[in-house]
Amino acid sequence: MNYDSDVIIVGSGPAGAAAALQLAEKTKPLVLDVGITAAHKTSDQSYLTETLGTELQGLSHITGQYLSPKLRSPLFRYVTGHWRELSPIRSQNFRGELSLAMGGFANAWGSGLYEFDDEDLRGFPIQQADLQPYYKRLTEHIGISGGDKLFGDSIVSDGSLLPAVPLSGPSKNLYQRSRYPRASVSLERKGIHIGRQRLGILTRPHRGRPQYVFDGQDFFRPSKESIYHPGYTIRELQQCNKIDFKAGLLVKRFEESAEGIAVHAVELETGAEEVFWTRALLIGAGAINTARIVLQSFQEYAAKLPLLENPVSFIPFVELSALGSPLDRSSFTGAQLAVIFDGPQHRDRVQGSFYNLSGVLQSDFFLDFPLSTRANRYCLTNILGAMGVLQLFYSDAPGTAGYLSLAPDGTLNVHCEQRRYGAVEKILIKSFRALGFWSLPFLVRYGEPGGSFHYAGTLPMSRHETMKGLATDPMGRLQRSRMVFAIDASTFPLLPAKNLSLTIMANAMRIAAKLVL
Ligand SMILES: Cc1cc2nc3c(=O)[nH]c(=O)nc-3n(C[C@H](O)[C@H](O)[C@H](O)COP(=O)(O)OP(=O)(O)OC[C@H]3O[C@@H](n4cnc5c(N)ncnc54)[C@H](O)[C@@H]3O)c2cc1C
Repeated sequence: MNYDSDVIIVGSGPAGAAAALQLAEKTKPLVLDVGITAAHKTSDQSYLTETLGTELQGLSHITGQYLSPKLRSPLFRYVTGHWRELSPIRSQNFRGELSLAMGGFANAWGSGLYEFDDEDLRGFPIQQADLQPYYKRLTEHIGISGGDKLFGDSIVSDGSLLPAVPLSGPSKNLYQRSRYPRASVSLERKGIHIGRQRLGILTRPHRGRPQYVFDGQDFFRPSKESIYHPGYTIRELQQCNKIDFKAGLLVKRFEESAEGIAVHAVELETGAEEVFWTRALLIGAGAINTARIVLQSFQEYAAKLPLLENPVSFIPFVELSALGSPLDRSSFTGAQLAVIFDGPQHRDRVQGSFYNLSGVLQSDFFLDFPLSTRANRYCLTNILGAMGVLQLFYSDAPGTAGYLSLAPDGTLNVHCEQRRYGAVEKILIKSFRALGFWSLPFLVRYGEPGGSFHYAGTLPMSRHETMKGLATDPMGRLQRSRMVFAIDASTFPLLPAKNLSLTIMANAMRIAAKLVL
């Protein structure tokens, strides 16, 4: 048989790019991807077009559905472009998004990159030691700026971390106050740990990419080379001729036979079907789209697969002593602090990110104040510089809250539910008050179902044959197949509260490294 490549990888997001990086050491994989890229160059845009867009896309949440600020931002629109037509979902309640971009969702990520420890991997058929060599290699490859060692954070790659991103505005004050001896003892006693975020942001030049420049535009300018996304890895491997990369292809299904694996894709420009032959297929299309490809391949219309996501809540805080301060745009405008809650009030660890509000549009908050237009403007000018938002992520496990199935027309039926906790939010509000940061429980907002963008668990790894073979073994191999592997978070049997993408990447490398052709 004449193979197009010994190994085909679907997707160029964190999973696909990491697998390609590892495989390029032993073979030349072929990466197939829809691979949408930014339509405009940032440098061609006026400030208004960059922030609001020619069709006022930046204000779309006022008239339409809520969308997180970065994904709503005009020049970031390509990240979630065209998924509704190409990867259709039917759902009463799914308010999430999918990405068909080169580099995947990570084009728009907050770049918080964390390792899972054995506590996070409870319920997985692998341990942290299995992932360690890949965490280490990724830390060097990506260039991760170090945060503090936080509770439950193993920092196996400590030695290779770049200096931490400097703190600014309310984040800086919250961090400093949490370090006062009495405050730190009191926080620890409640199971609250506050530290600097670990980020895929270059605080010095690294492997040909430049140092991060603070310009307050992180929410509006995509593809800043100092903020890592997996498209850089794909481009680098392509330039060294270590992989073949084909964009513009929507993979529909695969067929496995004694001859090998036929991968069926549609060329999006012409609508023609193309078939690629390989010995081994690694699917990293994101937990939802990977499940779609697998269900389509087996024509499984009765199966209900689990869908995990991190329930999210948002707590706004005001630092009273900073009221009237201007917005501090001197550092990264994404999350600068990580907050972990590990008290008895919730069964698992809860992890959060604390943001200043210097990076988003003031208009995002205009409708949040119930006063006159003038009074609202006054509030915005005087409050935003003193405000921060704590975004909390909760863990998830298979249950009735999330599942998906395939309809014969290729549409995925998705069910997910909003989950509202509240006890942890109350404790954090009370504890932050002692640090001079005020909030009230009724101000807490809960994320929409699907709105975390952290999807997992559709084809969970298990040591035992389960879900009628629609699960994976500990190597990510589909239990029903010989040489087809899922390499993204579809294989996670549980989803801890921690940012998942560094583990998606390390796990994809582990699977690629162990692949025997
Ligand atoms: C706003 C935002 C902020 C985030 N912040 C963080 C963060 O700070 N830290 C963190 O860890 N995570 C974060 N995430 C989540 C993170 O981006 C995802 O977990 C991660 O990108 C998932 O990687 P993946 O490779 O599995 O899939 P994706 O990133 O979804 O990539 C999927 C890839 O597969 C391709 N593809 C899909 N279907 C097909 C098909 N049928 N045929 C061909 N190609 C296909 C796509 O083109 C794409 O290249 C964030 C996400 C968003 C949206």
